[in-house]
Amino acid sequence: MAILNFVFLGPPGAGKGTQAEIIAKKHGLVKISTGDILREAVKNGTELGKLADGYMKRGELVPDEIMLGLIEEQLANIDKGFILDGFPRTVKQAEGLDELLQKKQLPLKAVILLDVPDEEIVKRLSARRVCPNCGAVYNLLYNPPKNDEICDVCGTKLVQRKDDNPETIKRRLDVYHKQTAPLIDYYRAKELLVKIDGTGKPEAITEAIEEVIFK
Ligand code: AMP
Repeated sequence: MAILNFVFLGPPGAGKGTQAEIIAKKHGLVKISTGDILREAVKNGTELGKLADGYMKRGELVPDEIMLGLIEEQLANIDKGFILDGFPRTVKQAEGLDELLQKKQLPLKAVILLDVPDEEIVKRLSARRVCPNCGAVYNLLYNPPKNDEICDVCGTKLVQRKDDNPETIKRRLDVYHKQTAPLIDYYRAKELLVKIDGTGKPEAITEAIEEVIFK
């Protein structure tokens, strides 16, 4: 069977979640988004949520041990190809993931880096709106809802993510450059890295990713 396991890498707001959602649906893969899982845990007030809440509000990373435990759980019964969105975010997480995938004999096919410059990230994150009910994601500049800040899918009033404020955006970008960007070299050395320009039209980016997936 073809190997269809991927990591989507890139700064916050690069479009990892959006693209992972589209590609997973279209090609029957499982999307595992650690940010979504953590936000759900915070909303439900679980132990994990209580642990993660402060880090997320500050725009910092949740500790590696917690994240590795979470991803191990997510991969426990996986029976399809998967896309990891937002994991790994540190070299320690990447090493832990390697070990786990080796044990389970689930190799990665590619690590897709969505490349978007910082100025564009700040613009995008400031204009991002999400549906608190169904999780649909919009951008007031590039992908606005049909009716003023109302979800096209379920009609709920859209909100801003708590960490999409100017101060936290800056912190998250700092954290990305210091802690996550080293993964670019890590995966390049393993000959898994594929860099894709993340600034074009979403449809064009999807196509570029699909070329890699079916190469
Ligand atoms: P995201 O939705 O991917 O931007 O993630 C939102 C927040 O969740 C991040 O700013 C971190 O606080 C936390 N988070 C998500 N994934 C990870 C991860 N792999 N490692 C550490 N923290 C994470």
